[in-house]
Amino acid sequence: MIAVVEPATEQVMAEVPRAGVEETDAAVAAAKAAFPAWRAVAPGDRAAILRALAAALEANAGELAKLEARNAGKPIRDARGEMAMVVECFRYYAGAPERLLGRTIPVAGGVDMTFREPLGVVGLITPWNFPLVIASWKVAPGLAAGNTVVLKPAELTPLTALELERIALDAGLPKGVLNVIAGPGSVCGKRLVEHPDVAKIAFTGSTEVGRGIAAGAAQTIKRVTLELGGKSANVIFADADLGAAAAAAPLAVFANSGQDCCARSRILVERSATDAFMSELERAVKAMHVGDPLSEETEMGPLISADQRRAVASYVGDDAPVAIRGPAPDGPGFWYPPTVLAPVSNSDRAAREEVFGPIACVIPFDGEPEAITLANDTIYGLSGSVWTRDGAKALRVARAIETGVVSINSNTSVRVTTPFGGFKQSGVGRELGPDALDHYTEVKNVFYATEEG
Ligand code: NAD
Repeated sequence: MIAVVEPATEQVMAEVPRAGVEETDAAVAAAKAAFPAWRAVAPGDRAAILRALAAALEANAGELAKLEARNAGKPIRDARGEMAMVVECFRYYAGAPERLLGRTIPVAGGVDMTFREPLGVVGLITPWNFPLVIASWKVAPGLAAGNTVVLKPAELTPLTALELERIALDAGLPKGVLNVIAGPGSVCGKRLVEHPDVAKIAFTGSTEVGRGIAAGAAQTIKRVTLELGGKSANVIFADADLGAAAAAAPLAVFANSGQDCCARSRILVERSATDAFMSELERAVKAMHVGDPLSEETEMGPLISADQRRAVASYVGDDAPVAIRGPAPDGPGFWYPPTVLAPVSNSDRAAREEVFGPIACVIPFDGEPEAITLANDTIYGLSGSVWTRDGAKALRVARAIETGVVSINSNTSVRVTTPFGGFKQSGVGRELGPDALDHYTEVKNVFYATEEG
């Protein structure tokens, strides 16, 4: 059994069966058996099933949000927002089965046409930081394109994925189309990556594990999409609305306790604005509500585990001085206060590695070229922001930053309708928006001869 721990109390909140290789193979076999019938479901009928699933998830959203908030230690308001996105994601991709268009291409001697075919069984491996929402980014386009799915959630947070399987069956998804296995990555995840009957792996997790997955998948030439780590820059120019930038900066790092691949954990501030920015930032960090995930006013909960807290703490006291510390409760729970290190050099360990905890580095810069150089001086390329009132400069810098997503005068990264993914070692492929469907289909080219010879 897997003992599922509630990070805010350190108590076991549930026990679920631990899957191994045998259960993984059984799930793949069930998905393989279900594939021919699922791909043959008429597009409108497949769309209707996905809409019914979205409605069932919406009906269960309150309970799912509570489960996620307790299991992942995230504020209930955030968990509700995530469940709304899960519902929106299934609704959005319910529109896909009837819109997976091919092309006709002028050729000699006949008619040439393309089709978007499903891949077969897709293996989805997801992390513990946004458990159900990240699963939905993969499950919804995967099913919409006519694939069958084996989903392996993170061991620490399997509960909402198991609920998704139950809700989907109740909503009319045929048996075997979606299979959830809760078990260790090194056993079940590894088996999915190696399994000859799995056509594709969609993985979200650390860059380190992602490297192993890319190597493992190469043995059977699987399609692979990877959403990996980040070390995103929040670039704040002196001509920005500093009050707005400073008020928004804490949650751009500390939301989800900093356990966010899009965390803007490197705050690059133009040197002439550093003092004004730091005093605004201090006020905002000190005012944060850190505590019980189920409380309506909470903005930041605990870290996911004691191990994670140990790893996060190792970044403090290394190179850079602690400039600001926010609040954190005492007692049980894997708490760690929101912490700002300043001034930090971009070569310091805390500025180079993905901390995945509530630690922000403030790095001063002089002028636009240095801002771009520093923002790009990282192996990662997932997300980022530019704050300035100069529109042309905002667009120049946004285009020059080597990341998959950049926001101007905003710290948002993810929308159901727009592509999301990484440059460099932050990943391969795109999720969400229309782009995700390319990664769950193969292009088939068919030529029909109309002339002799
Ligand atoms: P992780 O890499 O440790 O685990 C992710 C998943 O992979 C889990 O389900 C785990 O069981 C599984 N896994 C572990 N070893 C495996 C193996 N050898 N073979 C197959 N599967 C294996 O990541 P995590 O600690 O759960 O999540 C944190 C990481 O995820 C961070 O690096 C974060 O940046 C990244 N992340 C990225 C995105 C994104 O969209 N780019 C989103 C969220 C999280």
